[in-house]
Amino acid sequence: MSDFEKLKKRAEELRGELNRHARLYYEQDAPEIEDFQYDALLRELRGIEEKYPELSAPDSPTLRIGGAPREGFVKVTHEVPMMSLDNALDRGELASFYAKLCEALGGGDVDVVCEPKIDGLAVSLVYEDGFFVSGSTRGNGQVGEDVTANLKTIRTLPLRLERAIPGRFEVRGEVCIDKKGFEALNAAREENGESLFANPRNAAAGSLRTLDPKETARRNLKIYLYQIIDPEKYGVDSQRKMLDEIKALGLPSQGAEKLCRSLDEIYQYLDDWETRRFSHPIDTDGVVVKLNETAPRAALGSTAKAPKWAVAFKFPPEEKLTEIKDIEVTVGRTGVLTPTAVFEPVQLAGTVVRRAGLHNQDEIDKKDIRVGDHVWVRKAGEIIPEVVRVEYERRPDGAQPFRIPDKCPVCGAAAARLPGEAAVKCTNSSCPAQLKERIIYFASRSAMDITGFGEKLTGQLVEKGLINNYADIYELNAEKLAGLDRMGDKSAQNIAAAIEESKKRPLGAVINALGISNVGEKTAHDLAERYRSLNLLAESALNCEAELEETEGVGPVIAQSLHAWFSEPHNQDIIKRLRESGLRFEAEGKAKDKGALPWHGMKFVLTGELSSMTRAEAEEKIKELGGAMSSSVSKKTNFVVVGENPGSKYVKAQSLGLPLLDEAGFLEKLEEAKV
Ligand code: NAD
Repeated sequence: MSDFEKLKKRAEELRGELNRHARLYYEQDAPEIEDFQYDALLRELRGIEEKYPELSAPDSPTLRIGGAPREGFVKVTHEVPMMSLDNALDRGELASFYAKLCEALGGGDVDVVCEPKIDGLAVSLVYEDGFFVSGSTRGNGQVGEDVTANLKTIRTLPLRLERAIPGRFEVRGEVCIDKKGFEALNAAREENGESLFANPRNAAAGSLRTLDPKETARRNLKIYLYQIIDPEKYGVDSQRKMLDEIKALGLPSQGAEKLCRSLDEIYQYLDDWETRRFSHPIDTDGVVVKLNETAPRAALGSTAKAPKWAVAFKFPPEEKLTEIKDIEVTVGRTGVLTPTAVFEPVQLAGTVVRRAGLHNQDEIDKKDIRVGDHVWVRKAGEIIPEVVRVEYERRPDGAQPFRIPDKCPVCGAAAARLPGEAAVKCTNSSCPAQLKERIIYFASRSAMDITGFGEKLTGQLVEKGLINNYADIYELNAEKLAGLDRMGDKSAQNIAAAIEESKKRPLGAVINALGISNVGEKTAHDLAERYRSLNLLAESALNCEAELEETEGVGPVIAQSLHAWFSEPHNQDIIKRLRESGLRFEAEGKAKDKGALPWHGMKFVLTGELSSMTRAEAEEKIKELGGAMSSSVSKKTNFVVVGENPGSKYVKAQSLGLPLLDEAGFLEKLEEAKV
């Protein structure tokens, strides 16, 4: 094969690989390789294409920006394309960019603005007469996704500009998640056995590009703006003034930029930022250097991907070599067994790190991490330490593959990995590591609905050893409760009464309260409806998983989960004691034909307090008649039941013109449905 033939083959290979990684990164927010590895492949391809232009292809990743818009979003065509940036990987490349810029503008130093490069996702916002009307992602640069509803959940995004600008005003910037938010999000995902985001950028992109704005709202995203479209229209003729105007309009801006008048000043900014970035609340992966004056930008033009008047200087990832001394396994509040590597302390991205989460067995197997190994560590998003790879040549003799134990390190009960899940979980509902959270869930409204059994009381009861499992709740009485800190006799009596009252909760609520992995409220009620007895459900779980799967919404994962839960001797003991305490283990009434129920298919929302029943009772009545409860108001809501002191749902329901029911109206409707 000639050299040319070889390069042709290599270019094709690279295009295939790069396209696959770009899809994983941009469309699924789940990259498999590091950015610097992707960039190296891209550079190799660019090198070949520059040498032999005939080997280029119109769809080459060297010419394309981003990925395709995600299904389910309305597509938006950008009036002015949203470009990417060319990269400078070292100071030499940056110097050559600056030299070219100066030369193109007639020689002599030119002014540039240096800004931290936020590791987020580019968005464009449109304001009409000063009001935020729409926002979109960059997408492939020409066509992005309409993410208006999700953007509106970002608290720092003003829905109205400080100064009304008549007509259309477009401003661009970056949506991101700050370091704390990223850490918390990944910690929560780890607890729930979900896959982790590789970096803050993927976390921000995944959070903004979800079809459920409620989910976006939970992620606590941030936005920073840095570009006004058609700035001259607003008397803005430089990057410096643009950032000032952005601030003056009340739009969030990073505020860490600097006007630099020479290459030396740019280098000073880089030196400064190389350390400052570790204490910056947002993850940055470089510094963007932009020509300050806006007038010459159009004439300087752009490549297919990026403008020629700006460049992104990328920081190299900081990695250190260290030795793994131990792998510890701890149990989280949801029962997940989490392995953590403990290594020789190393200085990394501004702090000393001693430990790194290894997430789960798959992650350990994939990297083949063993105690005694020398490993490269770094901080994902400059904050979360992680083991990147092992130096296999330095592996000590006799180092053994690591396995997460099949016994819980806290209580010794069986720990199991369910099919389709990455996490190994302790199956014992009384495991002390999980107890407090489990008890709070057990007593919550959708489960046993024990009023007063919140965070503080549960914490005290668990700490004092008064509760070691669900069944102990029913051994409590007003006398024992009155002995607790800050507990009056009256409150103790009320809580004791609520405990007693909870014994009347229906079978579905009892199954839900047990907190069986993957068995949520709906599945619990479906299981209650199908088996109509906890004994029969337990029997089926122990002896016939296939039969369980005949229940609506129950597949092999839930069936296995039920099997693991009912097989655990601690749990069997709890069930026995709960039965003895008088909880409802049988369903009431006859089996229902759901389709025939009068409120089948209707959605209800409840806001405020009712005087004749508790919220849980009202919900139950609605469900008994076939209605479904929803926690938020939408156009699909059929009725909004409005009690005393209603909240924002009431306002929203009014604005959507939805049918409202006051308490009397609701009671009347209940009566009608029962006839
Ligand atoms: P980029 O992230 O390198 O730079 C361009 C973007 O920077 C702009 O679109 C803008 O969104 C952003 N930006 C942040 N702060 C800014 C500021 N102050 N001013 C102007 N712009 C600012 O380019 P890209 O095209 O968005 O993505 C390419 C990157 O994605 C590369 O780093 C590449 O490694 C990575 N990537 C990785 C994989 C993988 O598999 N790991 C796959 C594809 C792409």
